[in-house]
Amino acid sequence: MATATEPRRSKPAASYQTRLLIDGQFRDGVEGKTFATINPATEQEIAQVAEGTAADIDLAVKAARKAFDSGPWAKMDARDRGRLLYKLADLIEANIDDLAALETLDNGKPLKEARHGDLPLVVDVFRYYAGWADKLAGDTIPVRGPYFCYSTREPVGVVGQIIPWNFPMLMVSWKWAPALAAGCTVVLKPAEQTPLTALRMGELAMEAGFPAGVINIVNGFGPSTGAPLVAHKGVDKIAFTGSTEVGKIIMRDAAQTLKRVTLELGGKSPNIVFDDADLDAAVDGAMLGLFLNQGQCCCAGSRLLVQDTVYDQVVEKLAAAAKARKVGDPFAADTDQGPQIDETQFNKILGYISKGKAEGAQCVAGGSRAGDKGYFIEPTVFADVQDHMAIATDEIFGPVMQVLKFKDVEEVVSRANTTDYGLAAGIWTRDIAKAHSLAARLRAGTVWVNCYDVFDAAAPFGGFKSSGIGRELGEKALDNYTEHKTVTVSLK
Ligand code: ADP
Repeated sequence: MATATEPRRSKPAASYQTRLLIDGQFRDGVEGKTFATINPATEQEIAQVAEGTAADIDLAVKAARKAFDSGPWAKMDARDRGRLLYKLADLIEANIDDLAALETLDNGKPLKEARHGDLPLVVDVFRYYAGWADKLAGDTIPVRGPYFCYSTREPVGVVGQIIPWNFPMLMVSWKWAPALAAGCTVVLKPAEQTPLTALRMGELAMEAGFPAGVINIVNGFGPSTGAPLVAHKGVDKIAFTGSTEVGKIIMRDAAQTLKRVTLELGGKSPNIVFDDADLDAAVDGAMLGLFLNQGQCCCAGSRLLVQDTVYDQVVEKLAAAAKARKVGDPFAADTDQGPQIDETQFNKILGYISKGKAEGAQCVAGGSRAGDKGYFIEPTVFADVQDHMAIATDEIFGPVMQVLKFKDVEEVVSRANTTDYGLAAGIWTRDIAKAHSLAARLRAGTVWVNCYDVFDAAAPFGGFKSSGIGRELGEKALDNYTEHKTVTVSLK
């Protein structure tokens, strides 16, 4: 493989794994279809990738079912499952530069972020759950009468996992690691925009020694590949990360077979800056909270609520910081912001920028496409944003920040919570009592105080309200992949 500094975009398609992983073999789709994956920085095709359809999903689910019900995986000691996860973590670490480069090529995120942000967390997530594999114990339960009652935790079974394109490898790790630690088998449907790194991780999983059928990967599109996975009778559970709109479709479709469902969906997260905060730190945190990953984060702090006494000062700093961001070639060492993922997202974001201007918000930085090739958008900051504006209510999923003004705590709590979403929130203040009391009142799954976007394999993440159901990461995620069984034995 090429090193990170080589122009990876010119590599021939033949050097990437592009086929489906089913039952331990990389193979073409049953219908022989392929689709193009595009480099968003150049708009050029990187490779043609095998497209799975319902027939491939059926093969993958049958392989996962066999591995779960009767394969070596079913008999494997939990500690040995953990060892395989450790081995996969080691292989990812050994290939970290190449994986980061492939992620940047397919997704467009700056290489420095892929290499030093996404990938180290991927390794950490696998190691964290490797340690959990042999620690899923049940309880002994005191019951009335001459009975001995205990519970065990068992894997939920075959899991269908559908992921988005914004953090392709990180999402693979969030999905695979707890499921495999718990003893499940998986069929993964990566996003059609970013099919390549999941396949490379599939190669590494085979190298690590996961038995055939335990990990299957079927690339393709939502309705023709994802939907058959959700509908398949052989699947026990669906784990989905993506838009709230598709999350609703998945929950509805999964209801037909009463599958367990966990959903990690969208957000419009409030990031609140009080006048007693360290304002430079708050501005840095606000910039990170919104512009990280080209603004393509479900937890983006896209409603920045700033106290009126420091509002003008903060807006000025934000505008300067946005203008200073370097947009361009994601492989260049000094690039802060790469392209948006595809033309659809690019047009949607530009549409919101136009709407913001038309609705009367003040554009103090950016506001246009950057360059004329690739899906680049200028880091954009809107001031004087009002709660009712579309840019203040809708998830834009791009490098567009909304700055709103507030007066006091009561007002900001109510405005922060006035949204259908509830994924994350930020609070910037030096007053510790205010920070904790506000953290308790915000209806969000994660609250960051004097920081933003701090993720850890051990810290649960997920949403209130329309931002989702269930929690990923930490011990909590293991609940998604286990059934509790109660055993009662007569002592008479
Ligand atoms: P985004 O807005 O981030 O592109 P989506 O929710 O559209 O997110 O897609 C996330 C994932 O869900 C992708 O892998 C996509 O192919 C898949 N998907 C989209 N529609 C469906 C569907 N009807 N059934 C199952 N999966 C779907």
